[in-house]
Amino acid sequence: MATILDGKAHAEQMLAEVRAGVEARLAQGLRAPCLAVVLVGEDPASQVYVRGKVKACADTGIRSLEHKLPVDTDQARLEALIEQLNSDAGVDGILVQLPLPKGLDAKAALHRIAPAKDVDGFHPVNQGLLLEGLPGHRPCTPSAVMHMLKAYGVPLKGTRAVVLGRSEIVGKPMALLLLEEHATVTIAHSRTVDLPGLCREADLLVAAVGRPGLVEGSWIKPGAVVVDVGINRVEDVALGERIFAAEPRKLETLKTKGGVLCGDVRYGEALEVAGAITPVPGGVGPLTIAGLMQNTLRASQL
Ligand code: NDP
Repeated sequence: MATILDGKAHAEQMLAEVRAGVEARLAQGLRAPCLAVVLVGEDPASQVYVRGKVKACADTGIRSLEHKLPVDTDQARLEALIEQLNSDAGVDGILVQLPLPKGLDAKAALHRIAPAKDVDGFHPVNQGLLLEGLPGHRPCTPSAVMHMLKAYGVPLKGTRAVVLGRSEIVGKPMALLLLEEHATVTIAHSRTVDLPGLCREADLLVAAVGRPGLVEGSWIKPGAVVVDVGINRVEDVALGERIFAAEPRKLETLKTKGGVLCGDVRYGEALEVAGAITPVPGGVGPLTIAGLMQNTLRASQL
């Protein structure tokens, strides 16, 4: 039976470290770090994520400024707000909640954020610094995953790691951070041939695909460490019956509540094979917000 990598507990620890860092600043007579969060439109999931981030700020002593813009905001208005926040010396970090409403160019908006305030780590300058192994803001999800893996003492040097997914937000930076720790890394994606065979070679498997239950138990090397970044809502009972065969409680929730959250890995099957695994929910999700708080504290120290 696999060890559960408790992302929620580890995130609490990271948040406690941030809180201590904020208190140390205040004790030196410095102001609290400040994160500006920009939300355009009323996407319910984005509203939930923003609430979570604002709450984490409150819990750690970081000041948060919420900027809510209407759904019909145009690119010029959004970028003008970003410029205003860039030049505001009282703001340390700027986060534009994604996805943006249709018609807005997310990349162009993100590229407007001053790299020093880009606490999501999505700006090309920060991505370039990561590529070069130089200090800069790292994307929150992969950097927090690394923080947890190190805390659990997961061996990284010389490890054969497979990262499923090549997004700029998770897959690519995850692979680079693992490489920085001397893992031997393969990045897989939708055109990869023989995904199951490749996964079976991995001592460390990171799934960041967004396909519920894609990774079957039989794809996992016995004893491997599995990090499941995917967050998917499943409402289709036929799919649930396939992917939750080894998780009767999840299937039950799906049938009674009409939907259930799950990762990219078939958790019940993987538990039997893996050496350690992150659950969904309660695994990587809470780590991401903790990573954001870390980046915001760091931005205030620049
Ligand atoms: P993207 O959609 O940007 O990228 C998905 C990647 O998965 C792509 O590289 C795609 O390949 C690959 N892929 C898709 N289908 C397959 C397949 N059948 N086989 C192999 N590879 C495949 O997603 P994100 O990286 O933004 O997010 C991935 C998941 O992580 C999502 O579920 C998301 O909700 C979750 N997430 C969770 C976070 C957290 O806090 N826990 C934070 C961020 C994301 P290709 O490039 O070829 O299209």
